[in-house]
Amino acid sequence: MEIDFSKDKNGLVPAIIQDATTRNVLMLGYMNEEAYQKTLDTKKVTFFSRSKQRLWTKGEESGNFLNMVDLKVDCDNDTLLVFVDPVGPTCHTGTDTCWGEKNDETPGFLGELEKIISERKSNPENQNSYVASLFKSGINKIAQKVGEEAVEVVIEAKDNDEELFLNESADLLFHYLILLQAKGYSLEDVIKVLKGRH
Ligand code: AMP
Ligand code: ZN
Ligand code: ZN
Ligand code: ZN
Repeated sequence: MEIDFSKDKNGLVPAIIQDATTRNVLMLGYMNEEAYQKTLDTKKVTFFSRSKQRLWTKGEESGNFLNMVDLKVDCDNDTLLVFVDPVGPTCHTGTDTCWGEKNDETPGFLGELEKIISERKSNPENQNSYVASLFKSGINKIAQKVGEEAVEVVIEAKDNDEELFLNESADLLFHYLILLQAKGYSLEDVIKVLKGRH
């Protein structure tokens, strides 16, 4: 892989560290050519620390190594994207990411949707909301709704209307997310079970 270390006077390129499975960005560091080679050789992310002025294998003291899974270079060869499997929290402050965020299993749109549903669940009274009204009607009603949507998916799967099938699939997923939260769970809990079987 050709990497252009010449753009910076100290021969450093930025390396964005991203969790290979959750896809959350964990931290940013800098690599020189030696750090890059060591990362490839040991499969443990190694930076050139600008404050220590030496090679720094992330986790060398804490044990919170970043095990390299894959590595990509950007369009003009001057920035790295490193996919990792982190051993522990990445930030020395103890948080999962260097921006204080949790390394959630469900980032992106489904994660956003779960946050909105959770907000409706915690304030069911003061809202003119369908989701809030479902929470008020109780778990049995929500579970029944999931059952109905599942049957609709089955029916549309047998017919040939692709648009209806997709719409019923969205209904099912949406009501399933609500049922999970009504039971006190989230997609993350389900993903953990799936990963345990993997
Ligand atoms: P570690 O590499 O995890 O053993 O940590 C060694 C030292 O590196 C810590 O005491 C911090 O000074 C620094 N350090 C660790 N993790 C980070 C990080 N994510 N960002 C910046 N500095 C860090
Ligand atoms: Zn670039
Ligand atoms: Zn940090
Ligand atoms: Zn439906």
